[in-house]
Amino acid sequence: MQKNYQFETLAVHAGEAPCSVTGALDTPIYQSTTFASANSEEMAALYGEQKPGYMYTRYGNPTLRALEEKIAALEGSEAALVTASGMAAISTAILGYVRAGDHVVAARSLYGATYHFLDRTLRRLGTSVTFVGSSRTEDFEKAIQPNTRLIYFETPTNPVLDVLDIRALAQLGRSRGIPTMMDNTFASPALQQPLRLGVTTVVHSATKYLCGHGDAMGGAIVGSKEYISLLLHEVHRDFGGVLSPFNAWLILRGIRTLHLRMPAHCANAQKVAEFLSRHPKVERVNYPGLPQHPGHELAKRQMKAFGAMMSFEVKGGYEAGAKVMDRVQIFARAASLGDTRSLIVHSASTSHRAVPPEKRLAIGITDGLVRLSVGIEAAEDLIADLHQALDF
Ligand SMILES: *Cc1c(COP(=O)(O)O)cnc(C)c1O
Repeated sequence: MQKNYQFETLAVHAGEAPCSVTGALDTPIYQSTTFASANSEEMAALYGEQKPGYMYTRYGNPTLRALEEKIAALEGSEAALVTASGMAAISTAILGYVRAGDHVVAARSLYGATYHFLDRTLRRLGTSVTFVGSSRTEDFEKAIQPNTRLIYFETPTNPVLDVLDIRALAQLGRSRGIPTMMDNTFASPALQQPLRLGVTTVVHSATKYLCGHGDAMGGAIVGSKEYISLLLHEVHRDFGGVLSPFNAWLILRGIRTLHLRMPAHCANAQKVAEFLSRHPKVERVNYPGLPQHPGHELAKRQMKAFGAMMSFEVKGGYEAGAKVMDRVQIFARAASLGDTRSLIVHSASTSHRAVPPEKRLAIGITDGLVRLSVGIEAAEDLIADLHQALDF
């Protein structure tokens, strides 16, 4: 695939071509664990990597390869590796950089399982981590130690939608010789391309917008050929978080409409956020598309649109937040995000129920905070649903 095609063309075509044997236009699901060689010489050449080809799906599979090429093209990178889930991507990608005795600087505001991985699992392996509680680049710089080997962050953040300066953080890493890794799940490459802003490695939960339909889990790591090859030959091969070919096929199918779905998600989210920001029962709306959001100007510079994730604070605390959850009819009370369907979560009673209230409040997760993943239904129906849900 030529590199100079537009994003929309790459979303449809990159990584895929008619089958050279059958002419099948859609990428087949290579539902095979293993691949046969013609003779011992060929098999030895494949294992010795003197000849390109496939041996065993944990080492590579043509359906997975198509998805890797598509995601790499969309992020503007030379290589990608797909994994069984977003967490498989994140843990594999981080373990590709750090070892016992190393130090990681990470944002405090992270996807819950990523925070847990860094705070518990990575520490158990002997790597120390400093969490930065703000979105300011200076605070990341202050946390750097002589043994810092990685700077890790995501933007916009979950669930309070802070916006971090991607270019500045990438520049900080480069100036100190430290790789930067960013989770681009919330925006997807349709809205934000961190590698083009200087970030070293991008990770994704492909379960979300890339797949887009809430029917397959997957993950992706996007970076240099050298680094992806290291993961493929060592970390990923050892940990074995391999994506199923069927899920790869569903995600390929999902990505072909990413450039159509994202603007629809974003347009709906903008209308929903504006409605909520005018509602008397709503204390505050966290959505970077609102001019009063502290990250609005920065988001405008580094994102093509503001995404479809938001959270809002219902007046009346925990009870009121739970009430809104109970009263919605179109929004599904469900975790995850990036689905065509609109989803709603009351953070204090679900995703963050194990976090002590003082700690929750410190990261902006107040008792009445409700998170929305705005889908691609009609905006007026979504607004009418929230209107009746808030009418208690
Ligand atoms: C969902 C999610 C993950 C984890 O992905 P899984 O596919 O659930 O393993 C990581 N980061 C973000 C921002 C997410 O939303």
